[in-house]
Amino acid sequence: MPSDPPLPIVRTVADLRARVAAWKGAGERIALVPTMGALHEGHLSLIRLARANAARVVASLFVNPTQFGPNEDFAAYPRDETRDAALLAKAGCDLLYAPGVTDMYPERFATAVTVRGVSEPLDGAARPGHFTGVATVVAKLLLQCGPDVAVFGEKDYQQLQVIRRLVVDLDIPVEVLGGPTARAQDGLALSSRNAYLTPEQRRAAPELYATLQAAAARLRAGEPVADVEVAARDRLMAAGFQRVDYVEARRPDDLARLGPGPIEGPARLLAAAVLGRARLIDNLEV
Ligand code: AMP
Repeated sequence: MPSDPPLPIVRTVADLRARVAAWKGAGERIALVPTMGALHEGHLSLIRLARANAARVVASLFVNPTQFGPNEDFAAYPRDETRDAALLAKAGCDLLYAPGVTDMYPERFATAVTVRGVSEPLDGAARPGHFTGVATVVAKLLLQCGPDVAVFGEKDYQQLQVIRRLVVDLDIPVEVLGGPTARAQDGLALSSRNAYLTPEQRRAAPELYATLQAAAARLRAGEPVADVEVAARDRLMAAGFQRVDYVEARRPDDLARLGPGPIEGPARLLAAAVLGRARLIDNLEV
């Protein structure tokens, strides 16, 4: 079988901009897909979505220290650039941007981007500072690359809504596209952190998606939001999750709270729960 040509890798903003400028000069549309690596089919589905929307696809690989809390898994986060580059090349990516930490955050770096409102509840409350880290690095990546379109996964639904707000508020001229969540056959959303699960925990993990599906059905049937949320939390604890950070139905765009009664319009169910060493998140449209 012929092997894929190696993927070009750039590590500095200057090199990234030179590549992108050449493509733009030829009139080509550019897509950016930011990732933290440890790539799986979910990331690759975003590369294909990017490919369908642009002539050139740039992926970034940067495990961003500022979006990890002091007791989170920054040091343990899986890293394998060689494997990631091969997968990206196969999926149709044109360029990998893989800066080092000191390229992104040189000495005396002093700026942070905070998106109020949509980044405050849910993961914003459970992981203080997380979305400021995300918004700051995504703003940098967008300004460094200058893509026409940027692609993010609905798997991280709150992150997607934070980025949509960020781009509008800062007048960053990019179209933000959300890609659907890629799942294992049993429903578990693919995640780099699933690697932390023991075989036994992996068998329990699909309960997160199953619980959201059951909750969505009950909301559609007109059951009160408050009852559905309590039942979903109980089900996750019974399934062996050690901690449920939240299971909530929220307004889809700004993630504002809904009333405790039956839903009156579109909603998004979002959940985060801890299973062993992994903190799993998932969400579903209602
Ligand atoms: P990460 O490397 O986990 O920071 O994710 C990089 C991008 O891939 C983000 O936009 C994620 O939302 C997206 N992503 C992660 N997991 C999935 C998945 N299972 N399906 C679709 N997109 C995903």
